[in-house]
Amino acid sequence: MRLTAIIPCYNEEAVLHIFYREMQHIMASMQEVDFELIFVNDGSKDKTLSVLKELASKDNSVKYLSFSRNFGKEAAIYAGLKYSGGDLTVIMDADLQDPPSMLPEMYRAVVEEGYDSVATRRVNRKGEPPIRSFFARRFYRIMNRISKADIVDGARDFRMMNRAFVDALLSMGEYNRFSKGLFGWVGFQTKWLEYENVERAAGETKWSFWKLFLYSIDGIVAFSTLPLSISAVLGVMMCVVAVFAILFIIARQLLYGGSAFGWPSMVCIIIFIGGIQLFCMGILGSYLAKTYLEVKKRPIYILKETNADLRYGEEK
Ligand code: UDP
Ligand code: MG
Repeated sequence: MRLTAIIPCYNEEAVLHIFYREMQHIMASMQEVDFELIFVNDGSKDKTLSVLKELASKDNSVKYLSFSRNFGKEAAIYAGLKYSGGDLTVIMDADLQDPPSMLPEMYRAVVEEGYDSVATRRVNRKGEPPIRSFFARRFYRIMNRISKADIVDGARDFRMMNRAFVDALLSMGEYNRFSKGLFGWVGFQTKWLEYENVERAAGETKWSFWKLFLYSIDGIVAFSTLPLSISAVLGVMMCVVAVFAILFIIARQLLYGGSAFGWPSMVCIIIFIGGIQLFCMGILGSYLAKTYLEVKKRPIYILKETNADLRYGEEK
């Protein structure tokens, strides 16, 4: 069995040696498996690439892909999948927050129990800022209400999958990639393993709150069209309210006369409705923007250098 690990790295020089040492222990304990490590250097500004080259020169199971700039973790995952030559593929973070010690158990679940993929979720968010955890929980709640892709709270990108699963993921060549959604969307039999949150081994997180917020909007736009219906629903509700208001004013005019007063309330109504219209246009705009990016068919990443061979599709 050949197992490919894909490791997206963005400014990870501090942690790469620690990660590699940890992986060596696991690789030694899984003699029956032929490992391949594909590190994806996502346009790091530090010495990540030279560390990777050094590892690759000593160990020929180490491969690296290096992007021309920072394209984001999603692009790095996609590139890694295209270069993965393993019967099984696993995606892991470089910072040891996805514990390599779980690999043997994941491996057994696929090989012996016959699952197509083994996914992991953190059961807690110890060590994370409380505001971030709060919004993350809200996001998963909303997402699961409004979209068909079933996205588990606390799910990681740490996942082992067989060839069929990888091919299904690669068949979705969309530009706006939201892996947590894609994993759920493709289906197959998935086993879930749980673990306690582990803090980063070294270095620091690459995700600011704002970056995560935008990423969550990407996820919603990519996996649900429900927000588009908001304007339709609000429009109908507004019409109903307007009909009652008209009836009320006609009745008042007939009974008491003098209905032409109250411009401040009129201003409030105009601003209110204007706000709703702009909000709905904004939603429409974000779908249009994503569609725009999608139809341009720009490559998801641009490769600058590598020592690996492409296994799926062709490089654009
Ligand atoms: N990462 C990446 N490109 C980016 C941001 C992050 O390849 O633009 C990688 C990063 O090197 C790490 C993984 O994605 O291996 C997870 O990032 P991080 O640990 O910073 O996120 P957190 O665990 O704090 O959510
Ligand atoms: Mg991390």
